[in-house]
Amino acid sequence: MVKKIWIYDNESLHSQETSKKLREKLLASGSLRTKEHQASPGLIQTQLVQDGHFEFNEESPDIVISIGGDGTMLSAFHKYETQADKIRFVGVHTGHLGFYTDFLSSQLDEVVAALKNEDPRNAVHYPLLKVKVNLDDGNSKSFYALNESTVRRGAETLVAEVNISGFIFEKFRGDGLVVSTPTGSTAYNKSIGGAVMHPQVEAMQMAEIASINNRIFRTLGSPMIVAKKDSITIIPESENELWFTIDQKEYKMTNLKEVVYSLDGHTIAFANCAHTPFWSRVRNNFIGSE
Ligand code: NAP
Ligand code: MN
Repeated sequence: MVKKIWIYDNESLHSQETSKKLREKLLASGSLRTKEHQASPGLIQTQLVQDGHFEFNEESPDIVISIGGDGTMLSAFHKYETQADKIRFVGVHTGHLGFYTDFLSSQLDEVVAALKNEDPRNAVHYPLLKVKVNLDDGNSKSFYALNESTVRRGAETLVAEVNISGFIFEKFRGDGLVVSTPTGSTAYNKSIGGAVMHPQVEAMQMAEIASINNRIFRTLGSPMIVAKKDSITIIPESENELWFTIDQKEYKMTNLKEVVYSLDGHTIAFANCAHTPFWSRVRNNFIGSE
């Protein structure tokens, strides 16, 4: 089976050069074999032909290789978001090994070998966060986040009610709230004191950004991990103009009624090749290797 590949690079020179090299290596990876063909009646010739393992296809790839950082993987995911259930992702990092990347740019031969042996049935799946935005006019729009989604304000504070599966949980006042996926737990969530979650835990996490706690406003104050069966709804006070974000995308909104977060079973799949154990990634990235 020929695998349809697309290489997603970013604007940096290192990413583009790595992308070009990988493309050449993938093209050159076909195996040579002999093939007999009838040149003319009575004359059979033997030819050397090259069998390709890969072809390049931007519209409907089986495998998307992101070349850059974790941020590049986020953009690659959003480019193919609507086809995410049919695609396996592979990350090649142009710096240090990140969280969504399994290879360094010095390991392109390993990437090619791993892709040849890769079996789609062994792909590793991680939960995506479903984000449904309901607007004041009754319209709504849904998104998926790979890292997180936030509701935030800048100079003034955000005031919002937080419901868990329809139950009024707290009234938040502060800079904002971050709801992250398990794989996003090492990103923004971690910077604001959220817990690092193993990516196969099927849950979402909500963490506060600078909550104000006094006699009037009282929040839990600690990050919370919410089970797959529950939803989190954030209902900002209507006069709040705010920022609503999904991974790297941000929207300034004045008509946001509420945002509903849930896990609906949609996942991102990573090709199972050279997969670095999660806790060793966490150690290497945040504590340092010995
Ligand atoms: P960026 O400003 O380059 O990202 C910030 C850092 O987060 C980069 O070092 C990035 O790694 C890293 N990162 C991204 N996803 C990660 C993950 N799942 N686990 C661990 N580290 C991760 O912007 P970006 O690269 O486009 O990434 C967007 C993300 O930045 C957002 O989704 C959010 O999580 C994060 N962010 C963090 C803060 C904060 O910590 N205060 C504030 C805003 C946004 P690479 O260098 O490999 O790309
Ligand atoms: Mn980045």
